[in-house]
Amino acid sequence: MLVLGIESSCDETGAALVRDGRYLLSNVVASQIEIHNRYGGVVPEVASRQQIAAIIPVVETALAQASCSWEDVDAIAATYGPGLAGSLLVGLTVGKTLSLARELPFLGVNHLEAHLYANWLRPQAETATAAPLPQQEWRYQSGDPLFPLICLVISGAHSEIVLVRDHGDYELLGRTRDDAAGEALDKVSRVLGLGYPGGPAIQRMAQQAEDAYAQQKKSIKKARSVYRLPRAWLRGTYDFSFSGVKTAMLHLAEGATDAARTHEDGKPSTQYTRYTRMGEQAAQAGAPDVALLASGFQEAIVDVLATKTRMAAQEHQVKQVILAGGVAANLSLRARMLQELQPLGIRLSYPPIEFCTDNAAMIASAAFFHLSLGEHHGMDLDVQPGLSLPFRK
Ligand code: ATP
Ligand code: MG
Ligand code: FE
Repeated sequence: MLVLGIESSCDETGAALVRDGRYLLSNVVASQIEIHNRYGGVVPEVASRQQIAAIIPVVETALAQASCSWEDVDAIAATYGPGLAGSLLVGLTVGKTLSLARELPFLGVNHLEAHLYANWLRPQAETATAAPLPQQEWRYQSGDPLFPLICLVISGAHSEIVLVRDHGDYELLGRTRDDAAGEALDKVSRVLGLGYPGGPAIQRMAQQAEDAYAQQKKSIKKARSVYRLPRAWLRGTYDFSFSGVKTAMLHLAEGATDAARTHEDGKPSTQYTRYTRMGEQAAQAGAPDVALLASGFQEAIVDVLATKTRMAAQEHQVKQVILAGGVAANLSLRARMLQELQPLGIRLSYPPIEFCTDNAAMIASAAFFHLSLGEHHGMDLDVQPGLSLPFRK
């Protein structure tokens, strides 16, 4: 089954063609990162306008890159939530309209569920040699994640530990009580003057500090410990809280960039601009404290995420853990998760970097499994900006 997937929940416009939920024929993403970088975050009104401009060329390019015509496509899928209403409307409307025009089945996809299904996507090399899948074998192929599994969902707006017993069977074990991990990374990056999106920027800075300390044969652990960054363990639960460490970082960022204050021209400015400008100067001067701070902050977040996920995997005796969402691209988190799980014989999987952040390949993959269960949606399906994973009670 060949599915055309469409993604437009936030500031990425994506279209992809995926066969049997696993094999990627094409994946096109138009990103607005450079536009939103100017504002330090996503501006909803700007995002939806950009979606409108990008969507048709992106769909056409995806078909062309897959060397597909409409006759090859079996179904169309588009994200219907969660996300920004104006952005979601663009992809959903285009998806529904195309399915009407081409007389193809349509399915609305839950964006969070799609982040999970990025783990079912195969390396491109496998696509070339894969035979079409017999319909009765849709549920499991060797190389797929094994149920039951624990999924750590860590994206721009969500941080959750979820027990997944089978396709479509989700139980929420814990979630963030305030900020999502990605949200905290983005906010801290902004006050450090490192730009948007924050995750990759913090990772880069942290790596710089870690390399520098390793080269000088000094302990970065010891150096970081002076910051006393708090970790909210919320013992007895699988919940997270990242607002404490975020606030500590905001105070430290001000102190760490004190030295740069003398370079200010003295003109009054909002606190936000002041933070940003000082952070930029400190970063440009290669001030080691900003890099060290980034490393300490990343470590504080990774420590809690990895420890709690490992505990959930042990309690529920699963053989597999998967990571999902933009923050799953983080190399430090991946390495730490492996360290936690390998000694226990628990398998870890995460999507390739480009399928961690928003893309349409994951939409087409998730759609395949629902379509295989006989599901589809009518033209009356509306956007649901606040949609969550479909948890069992
Ligand atoms: P949601 O999926 O919850 O609706 P979203 O779609 O905005 O939110 P994603 O696209 O899944 O979120 O992820 C974006 C987030 O991932 C951003 O917060 C970004 O900083 C973070 N991120 C991207 N790459 C990395 C990385 N290498 N390390 C850490 N975080 C990263
Ligand atoms: Mg995004
Ligand atoms: Fe996302």
